[in-house]
Amino acid sequence: DSFDALGINDTLVSHLVEKMRITKPTNIQKLAIPNLISSNKKNNDLFIHAQTGSGKTLTYLLPIISSILEMEAHVDRKSGCFALIVAPTRELASQIYQVASTLTNCCHYLVPCLLIGGERKKSEKARLRKGCNFIVGTPGRILDHLQNTKVIREQMGDSLRYLVLDEGDKLMELGFEQTIDDILKIIHEVPINNRKFPKLPSRIINVLCSATLKGRV
Ligand code: AMP
Repeated sequence: DSFDALGINDTLVSHLVEKMRITKPTNIQKLAIPNLISSNKKNNDLFIHAQTGSGKTLTYLLPIISSILEMEAHVDRKSGCFALIVAPTRELASQIYQVASTLTNCCHYLVPCLLIGGERKKSEKARLRKGCNFIVGTPGRILDHLQNTKVIREQMGDSLRYLVLDEGDKLMELGFEQTIDDILKIIHEVPINNRKFPKLPSRIINVLCSATLKGRV
């Protein structure tokens, strides 16, 4: 009954205990974490059926960050973006970003970036130019940068392996279907360089979180 037993990297587990006082996985974490970890070899997509409050954020963030640490390759903010996490609201995106920041504090060379719109476009661009390893944001602003900030696509080609749609049901309810389709089209067009990170999945793994099962997501 520990994150170690689920295959999460030791450094990350210690950090989780020290910084977040989290020691035991929740049910959804026990079920889904081993599946996401094995996606590195099996290349399987994952559907996480979970309510907010069940621990779903760590369910996908821990295995993604763990896989990067387990590669034992030299990685820093310039190595590229490994995961793109799309959330329906600025509030949720900011919360996910906070958790990602706390977790990546274990290893200062990993850098997350938040893209949520408003007045921050210049500083978002500057951060993307400096390089980041995880992007968390809302659909409209992510698509805007994918279309208009050239560096973001360049940084994904070598490294992007995980696409997470958090609260997928809400993304659809709020009318983001077309925007998500456009995002998917762009990221799946970027050719993947499998030689650079051979221990990561050989294609983009899609992770969908949703509290309900109905509708097309
Ligand atoms: P989430 O469902 O991701 O919004 O998480 C809801 C809350 O549960 C957050 O405050 C997390 O820090 C907390 N949490 C997540 N996983 C665990 C766990 N294994 N043990 C205790 N608290 C947790």
